[in-house]
Amino acid sequence: MKTAIINSDSYEKHITGDGHPEQPKRVIAIKEKLNKRKDLIWKKPDKVPKNILAMTHSKDYIENLKNSFPQRGLKFLDGDTVVSPESKRAVFEAAGSTIRAIDGIENNQFKNAFCLSRPPGHHAEKEKAMGFCCISNAGVATNYLISKYKYKRIACVDFDVHWGNGNYDVMRGNKNSLYISTHQHPFYPGGGTDKDKGDFNNSLNIPLPAGTNSEQYFNAFDRVLDRLVKYKPDFLLFSAGFDAHKDDPLAQFQLCSKDFYEITRRTLSATNKFTQGKVVSILEGGYDLNALAESANEHINALIEFN
Ligand SMILES: [Zn+2]
Repeated sequence: MKTAIINSDSYEKHITGDGHPEQPKRVIAIKEKLNKRKDLIWKKPDKVPKNILAMTHSKDYIENLKNSFPQRGLKFLDGDTVVSPESKRAVFEAAGSTIRAIDGIENNQFKNAFCLSRPPGHHAEKEKAMGFCCISNAGVATNYLISKYKYKRIACVDFDVHWGNGNYDVMRGNKNSLYISTHQHPFYPGGGTDKDKGDFNNSLNIPLPAGTNSEQYFNAFDRVLDRLVKYKPDFLLFSAGFDAHKDDPLAQFQLCSKDFYEITRRTLSATNKFTQGKVVSILEGGYDLNALAESANEHINALIEFN
C-alpha cells in the first residue's frame, strides 16, 4: 500500500503578512518537491466532527476562534499568531487533514499519511491560540482515534525543535495517549522539562541545549525509542517539525536533512510491530524553505519504506 499526502489549496491562502516565517511558501516548497515523486497518493482533508473539536479545545475557545477571522487584512490572535480572511478554512482543514488521514488508513486506502498542512498546531492550548497555531491538530487526531476507532494507546512523537506546549496541554489528561517531545531548552515557549510528566505519567519531555548536533540528538533519542517500546502504542502520530535543521533561522539545533529520515526510520522500526504500521504525521514547523522541503522528503522516504 501507499503513503498518502493530505493537502488543500486553503493552506496556501492562509496569509500571515510580509516577513512572517510561517508563510504559504512553506507548503508550496514541500509540494513542489513531493510532486516530482510517483510513489504517493494525494487526498484532500475532511471536516472535523464537532464533538472531536469539543474534546480537544473548550467550546468557548472554538466559538471565539470561529468569530476571530477578519473580513479583510490581518488579525493578531497573539503576538505572532496572525490570521487573514482565508485562514478560517485553512485552520479547520488543517485539523481535518488528520481526519482524512485516519479514515484512509482505517479503510485500507493507504498505509500511512503525511498531512501537508498549515497552520501548524502543537502550540495551540485548550483555551489559547499561540505560536502560529490555532488548533492542536495532533490532539484532534488523538481524540478521533479514541472516539471513532477505539484506540487505547496512541503515541505522539513531536520532533519539532520547540516544545509542543499545546499538544501537551491537550493530551496530558488523556489516559489513552503518550506525548513525547525533544526540543531546544531553554527556548520558546518555555517548559518541557522532566517535571512535565502528564497527569498519568503519560508524557516524556527531553530538553536539549542550543547547538545540539546529530550525534547528541540521537543519543537522547534512544530514550524516546525505549519509552515507545515499553508503551507498545497501537497508533503512532508524528508532530513533524523540521526546524531542528541546522539551516533553520528560528532555532539552534544542528541536524541535517538526512537526520529526519533517521528519526523516522528508528521510530517506525521500534513501533511497527505494535502499530502494524499505522502512522499519521502532521507538519508543524520548519522555516528555511530548502531545508524544510528536503527534510520533509527524507521523512516521507522512511514512511514509504515502512509501508
Ligand atoms: Zn517549531
